[in-house]
Amino acid sequence: MSNEAEKIHCLIIGSGPAGYTAAIYAARANLKPIMYTGLLQGGQLVNTTDVENYPGYPEGILGPEMMEDFKKQAERFGTDIRFGMATKVDFSSHPFKVWIDDTKLLSADAVILATGAEAKWLGIPSEKRLNGSGVSACAVCDGFFYKGQEVAIVGAGDTACEEALYLAKLCPQVHMIVRRHEMRASKIMQERVVNTPNIKIYWDSVTDEVVGENVVEAVRIMNNKTGEKTTIPVTGFFVAIGHQPNSAVFKDFIDTDEQGYVVTAPDSTRTNVEGVFACGDLQDKIYRQAVTAAGTGCMAALETERWLSEKGFH
Ligand code: NDP
Repeated sequence: MSNEAEKIHCLIIGSGPAGYTAAIYAARANLKPIMYTGLLQGGQLVNTTDVENYPGYPEGILGPEMMEDFKKQAERFGTDIRFGMATKVDFSSHPFKVWIDDTKLLSADAVILATGAEAKWLGIPSEKRLNGSGVSACAVCDGFFYKGQEVAIVGAGDTACEEALYLAKLCPQVHMIVRRHEMRASKIMQERVVNTPNIKIYWDSVTDEVVGENVVEAVRIMNNKTGEKTTIPVTGFFVAIGHQPNSAVFKDFIDTDEQGYVVTAPDSTRTNVEGVFACGDLQDKIYRQAVTAAGTGCMAALETERWLSEKGFH
């Protein structure tokens, strides 16, 4: 690790709607923000298709295109956008220390955390063993590989419904595994799924095993009311059961709740460390929308500017 620190006024970690919005506001306030994007540039929305509920796009827009627009807007006002992961932090003293890719050391006056959340897995061994060999957590990224083949998807939220509908356009049959007798997804998404003839729903069912030696060949499910097991031949197995906040790297310094979401002060993006702010899905387990993430990104930048001014750093 290098001990030569680069001095940064306002550091933004993460490049989803929250991070980019924070960048737009911070750059326009002359905070000279530097953003490190993380591995998935643009965040979770680059793994989605149509976004129909973000205001300002009356016809809807593709997630990756929307994030490209966010990026251009942040760049237009001078945000320095760099590729890299924050792999270690030290928030015990000021200025804050952040290491990028375990090598580059940054010394920041203020930090905005916007690292979002990532997909959850079922946690069964066969799912892990066959990950990348037929098992995926992103239908939009990997669905194309299963064009013309039968696939299964597990989950019953909006993500699972959206991905099942996406897969149904590529695959002759989509098997949807739902662990209860109802779905968590919004009514409109449920109706679309139920009315799609090539999506077959298995209610009250859990995944027992993903079957296959080197690639996925089938999925064995169990009805949790009758105990009956059924093996469904599929080549693709998609997991869409929710997300985990990306807070592990900050946890020694930043307070999180029992699920790992960063705790912020009421009506604020302030964390327990003065000068470190958190926005977006990293701290929001309730709304988790692009527009709410953008809203808290704006709040984080405004609060950062105020804090830097109060402390005489800006
Ligand atoms: P959710 O947490 O909403 O749903 C997760 C689903 O996975 C639930 O149905 C849950 O079942 C199921 N599940 C969890 N663990 C398991 C398990 N071990 N085995 C089987 N099933 C499991 O996550 P989503 O990612 O779907 O959505 C997150 C947020 O993003 C939501 O607020 C959603 O509305 C929003 N969203 C909005 C979209 C849009 O507006 N276009 C698109 C996608 C997401 P159970 O119900 O039994 O707990």
